[in-house]
Amino acid sequence: MKLSDKTKLKHLAQDKISRSANPAIVRNSTIFFKTMQELIDREKKVKKGSKVDFYDYGRSGSQTTIALQNFIAELEEAHATFLTSTGFGAVALSIMSFCRPGDEMIVTDAVYAPTRLITSNLLRQFNIKTHFYNPLDLNTLKRKINKKTKMIFVENPGSNTFEFQDLSAIIKMAKRKKILTAIDNTWGTPFLIKPLTLGFDMSISSGTKYFSGHSDVMLGSLSVNKKVFEKVKFCNKLFGFRASPDDAYLVLRGMRTLDIRIKKHEENTKKIINFLKGEKKIKEILYPHKKGTENYKNWKKYYSGATGLFSILIQSKNKNSILKFINSLKLFGIGQSWGGFESLVLYQSYNITRIFKKYLKPNYHIIRFHIGLEDPHDLILDLKKALKKVK
Ligand SMILES: *Cc1c(COP(=O)(O)O)cnc(C)c1O
Repeated sequence: MKLSDKTKLKHLAQDKISRSANPAIVRNSTIFFKTMQELIDREKKVKKGSKVDFYDYGRSGSQTTIALQNFIAELEEAHATFLTSTGFGAVALSIMSFCRPGDEMIVTDAVYAPTRLITSNLLRQFNIKTHFYNPLDLNTLKRKINKKTKMIFVENPGSNTFEFQDLSAIIKMAKRKKILTAIDNTWGTPFLIKPLTLGFDMSISSGTKYFSGHSDVMLGSLSVNKKVFEKVKFCNKLFGFRASPDDAYLVLRGMRTLDIRIKKHEENTKKIINFLKGEKKIKEILYPHKKGTENYKNWKKYYSGATGLFSILIQSKNKNSILKFINSLKLFGIGQSWGGFESLVLYQSYNITRIFKKYLKPNYHIIRFHIGLEDPHDLILDLKKALKKVK
């Protein structure tokens, strides 16, 4: 019987041994073997390509982390999933597993700021060159492909400015030239889109965000297809990427309600956007809400829903009034991250590595919101009052 994701989220990772609804938290470094032969046999089995649900030492995982990685793999329809201690660890693992001196990468120009830094800065020190492509014009991606291109790293939608791309067109270009593809899917989560089924080789989620949903834990997941599994497994083990069993448990606990929370974030966000649409001070709302636009079309084509993260663009010569607007919001916390139950706001234009070039203009201000699970009526009243500060 093919179960829906909603059912899977409730039934996966139940513990058959303890007959509990959830797996136990198993903390380990050492794992005992009955005999030396048993240890040797296990190692042989791993060499033959057995999956990661096999462990012989704490660095390879514990029952709890394995329960979570199998859970995510099932949701992603992946061959296997690797866990890292942060979402960014999963970004780094995807790149470090494949890119070598002389190789080139092509990365979405609107990418998450630390991803821009690792690719444009750190990798250059290893003689790995990165090109950035315009997510609104995939011809710029096509033009940058050459014999050295090892990987196309996509972030969809782009962090902070939310451009939605034609993902299948990217996959097609990559496959024709035998180029690896990775996608940072933190915004959509595998509940709304399954990148591996579209043909991506690797799919990244920061578990810190919607997976956990409670702003109290950090974790990352890298889900892979069969083609890249062995290479990622090799690097994962040697680099020592690992998630703690306690953190894995918290994320697993959040996963049970992923579907319900995302639906509610979407519902609340639509109400907020409807209100913001009527506010003349806002030049643009960066969220797939306008039918007929390219963004909307690409969102609709690939996603079964939307989440609670978006930005607005305000044009003003008075930056101070923008900051006053943000500071005077009572129900929106000023803080990094997102995906938890609480509403957040952040002035993104304070740092150019955070902003896609299109919006790097004098008097342009990008403000990012995460709409939480509060009563949207209260959030709207808060926004209405604070927006009066904008001059
Ligand atoms: C937060 C985030 C990450 C990194 O996740 P951490 O768990 O904070 O390390 C990567 N990509 C995107 C799009 C994110 O929003």
